[in-house]
This record gives sequence, C-alpha cells and structure tokens, in this order.
Amino acid sequence: MKCANCGNDNPKTLHDEGDTFYCSLCCHRTQTATGQDDLITCPYCGRLRDRKAFQCMWCGNTIGQNIPPTKDDYAELDRSLTEFEENMDNSNIRFWKLRDKKKQ
Ligand SMILES: [Zn+2]
Ligand SMILES: [Zn+2]
Repeated sequence: MKCANCGNDNPKTLHDEGDTFYCSLCCHRTQTATGQDDLITCPYCGRLRDRKAFQCMWCGNTIGQNIPPTKDDYAELDRSLTEFEENMDNSNIRFWKLRDKKKQ
C-alpha cells in the first residue's frame, strides 16, 4: 500500500478499508486495486473529491444522503394508503380513480 497523494507507504499510518486505504498523514484515500486516487467529481462544484468522504472538501456539500426507503417505510406507506381507502366515501369519484390506478 502506498498513498497516491503523498507517497507514504508506512503501514502504521495507512488504514485498510477493503477496496480503499486511508492515509492519515494527508487525509487521502487510495484505491487498493489500482493504486490510484479514490476520487469522484463532485456534482455540486465539479471538483474532484474523496469518494467516501461525507462532505466535499471544496464546497462542503454532502452526497449520498438520499437513503432509499426501507421495508418498514413501505409497510408504513401501505398502512396509510389502506387507511385512506377505507375512510374514503365510495361515492367519491376519486376513490374509483385510485382503484383503477391500482389495478394497472
Ligand atoms: Zn498520504
Ligand atoms: Zn464540491
């Protein structure tokens, strides 16, 4: 392992993270497989940023915060939808529209 940024190859200051390792001397990540910088282009400022870092070191924007809904979230959604349908007046035209949508 050798830091792609500063050339540090001291195992005591390099932290193995599986697919990458982190250099505590320069706070830089390197890809284990390629030995290259582990960088992506920041969608906010367009500069190269640390892929695994929580925030962009340049603009401070966070990426990857859109956590996909869990099974519980879907269950909760189903519950409230069922409740909603049960409380609907059958004569309400929107109820039938909703039902038709669900059939498709
Ligand atoms: Zn380094
Ligand atoms: Zn940025």
